[in-house]
Amino acid sequence: MKILTISDTVERRLYNLSFKEDFNDIDLILSCGDLPFYYLEFLVTMLNVPLFFVFGNHHTGAMLTAHGGSVKSPGGCVNIDDRIVAHKGLLIGGFEGCMRYNYGPRQYSDFEMWWKVQRIKLQLWKNKLFHKRYIDILITHAPPFGIHDQPDLCHRGFKSFRTFIEQYHPRYFIHGHIHRYGLQKDWKTQHQKTTIINTCGHRIIEIE
Ligand SMILES: [Zn+2]
Repeated sequence: MKILTISDTVERRLYNLSFKEDFNDIDLILSCGDLPFYYLEFLVTMLNVPLFFVFGNHHTGAMLTAHGGSVKSPGGCVNIDDRIVAHKGLLIGGFEGCMRYNYGPRQYSDFEMWWKVQRIKLQLWKNKLFHKRYIDILITHAPPFGIHDQPDLCHRGFKSFRTFIEQYHPRYFIHGHIHRYGLQKDWKTQHQKTTIINTCGHRIIEIE
């Protein structure tokens, strides 16, 4: 299965009318946050495949439509914050937001993120029982602590994500939030059994 992963920046290579021809073998889109609704709706309409997403720390309020209505979520897309969904045999979960730095919405302390993780524990154990594994892919906005993160509070990773990786061994942990200026920063890191990917912009992963 070919998966398009996106976050943080609207990419010209994707946001144009020949996008469909260039990406016609994509089976699923995963968005790790901080992208405008129109962009997600464009991609999901053009490819006609499911799009699972989590919110980042930006775009926190409702957006206005041309007719003055408000939309709180991108149309045709599925928010998977705090839950695990199954798609073509893949178990995919998500956690929104980033580390609390100015008390804005969708910001969490490490303890609060730990608590969000506790809320899907039952589902993780059910997966282990019935599917012989906890989860295949976890999407988040923020990175794990010490991997692709930065020292300032806003861009610091969650320790609870690191514990998650070490306890539940997802095959992929995909995050955004960390903009890569130049090519100096790592975007792909192996930690134990998990490949951690900073998808800022876009990436394509292939998974059986
Ligand atoms: Zn962010």
